[in-house]
Amino acid sequence: MDLNTVTDVRDARLREPWRPGDAWLGGGTYLFSEPQPHLRRLIDLSRTGWEPLTRHADGSLEIAATCTVARLSRYGRTLDAPAAPLFEQCCRAFLASFKIWNMATVGGNLCNGLPAGPLISLTAALDGTCLLRAQDGSSRRVRVVDFITGAGRKDLAEGELLRSVTLPGRALRCRTAFRQASLYGLGRSGALVVGTLDPLDGSLAVTISAATVRPFRFWFPLPPTREALRTAVVAAVRDEDWFDDIHGLPEWRRHMGLRLAEEVRRELIRTTGEDAR
Ligand SMILES: Cc1cc2nc3c(=O)[nH]c(=O)nc-3n(C[C@H](O)[C@H](O)[C@H](O)COP(=O)(O)OP(=O)(O)OC[C@H]3O[C@@H](n4cnc5c(N)ncnc54)[C@H](O)[C@@H]3O)c2cc1C
Repeated sequence: MDLNTVTDVRDARLREPWRPGDAWLGGGTYLFSEPQPHLRRLIDLSRTGWEPLTRHADGSLEIAATCTVARLSRYGRTLDAPAAPLFEQCCRAFLASFKIWNMATVGGNLCNGLPAGPLISLTAALDGTCLLRAQDGSSRRVRVVDFITGAGRKDLAEGELLRSVTLPGRALRCRTAFRQASLYGLGRSGALVVGTLDPLDGSLAVTISAATVRPFRFWFPLPPTREALRTAVVAAVRDEDWFDDIHGLPEWRRHMGLRLAEEVRRELIRTTGEDAR
């Protein structure tokens, strides 16, 4: 794709003043895939040197915005934690060519804010928190489920940078269940649902994404019944929140969202000996 309105690519390390028409450049797999007539300069994050994955003393995992999907997938395969399989499952939910797999970044995936953003699904399900840096140097933190506010919409001010996403250590110790549905084999996700069961207190969370314009996370202090889960989803997700595009009608996405939510609930409570009603 020729970005013929872009006149310069600047190194983010220079910390130059932000101008109208600037955009952060992650892996470029979205930015270079379609016309961007509103852009004049790209601020390249690729040489920031940020450590892609940092395990902190409290057990939490900080994923730099510049961490690629390929790197995250490799890390997930070596991670010694019950939630580890979810990393690979979500990375593989990406409709990715070799080039995208190796170039696309976690930050770019979140900031693109597509309903089928698999790293949005992963980090929302594991209760991740975004670290955001404004142009004046101030920082703030916002949970991933609040950061994504709609299809392609996010809580990001002009020039604000997503620096990293942190997953709490406790979330990594959860057992997880994963379901994905697509209209075609290897197609873009039409519904992606993740369940997590916390072994410490028995709480259960179900996160619906891809079927909805933004991720919805439902947390229950104890595993809910089938009816309680369904009631919570139906009450929170309005008709217009079920996403509508070429990858699935809202009615189908609603059906799959509810069905897959029930499937992950059942899978997770089977091993706890809870009543499966
Ligand atoms: C064939 C094809 C298939 C695709 N399939 C999928 C798919 O299944 N699911 C999906 O979600 N996407 C898909 N995409 C879109 C895109 O590849 C992904 O969203 C990818 O994760 C974007 O990451 P990136 O690092 O390349 O982002 P970029 O293209 O570099 O940036 C994307 C957006 O995020 C902003 N941005 C990047 N990093 C930051 C940051 N740290 N802070 C603030 N803003 C930032 C950029 O300014 C830009 O607006 C697909 C694209 C193509 C071409």
